[in-house]
Amino acid sequence: MFNVCHHCGLYRADKIIDPSGPYAICPECGHQHVFRQLPLLIISGASGAGKSSVCNAMLGRHDPIILLDTDILWRTEFNRPDKHRDFFETWLRMAKNISQSGRPVVLFGAGMGVPENIEPCVERRYFSKVHYLALVCDDETLAQRLKARPAWRGSDQAFVDGQIQFNRWFKGQEDGSSPITLIETTDISLDAVAEQVWVWISERIDFEPGSA
Ligand SMILES: [Zn+2]
Repeated sequence: MFNVCHHCGLYRADKIIDPSGPYAICPECGHQHVFRQLPLLIISGASGAGKSSVCNAMLGRHDPIILLDTDILWRTEFNRPDKHRDFFETWLRMAKNISQSGRPVVLFGAGMGVPENIEPCVERRYFSKVHYLALVCDDETLAQRLKARPAWRGSDQAFVDGQIQFNRWFKGQEDGSSPITLIETTDISLDAVAEQVWVWISERIDFEPGSA
C-alpha cells in the first residue's frame, strides 16, 4: 500500500514530494521512495453529456491508458456535502495506485471535472498534472437524453434542470482562463466524439504511436 511507510509503518497520505526522483517522503521518519508521477486525465460533463457512452466506446481500443467510470464506486453515503471530498480522495488514491504500474488513468465522472473539487485533495500531489476535459451539448439535447433514461436513474424534472445548469457552467468555462477543455457532442456521432477525446488524451500522455 502506497500510503503505508515501508520504513516506519505509519499511514500517511500527505507524503512530501521531491520532484527530483520523483520521491514520496514520509513526513514521520523521512524515508523516501521513488514513485511514478503520471498525469491524471478527467473526462467530465453533466449527466447526459455523453461520458458513459464515450467511455464504453473507447474501452479496449487504447492500450496505453486505463479508462474508468467513477460511478462504479458511488454509494449513497457519499451523497452529502461533507462526504463528497471522500469520494474524490478515494478515486485519486485508486488512480495513483493504478498508475504505479505505468499507465495513466482516465477517469470519467461529473463532479471530478470541477477543478475546485480535485486540486485541494491530499492525493492530488502524486500526479504530475491533472488535465480536465468536459463534454457539453445544447440544453434540449441534454434534456432529451436524460428523459429517455429508465425511471430507476431518477431523471425527474428537478434533476434535469440541475444538469442543464451544470452543463451551462461547463460551457461558461470556454473563456481561455479555465483549465477545462470542451468537446461539443450535440449532433456529433459517438465515434467522432470518442476520436476527439482520444486525440486530446494522446496529446497529454507519453506513448509510442502505434501502441494505441
Ligand atoms: Zn515513515
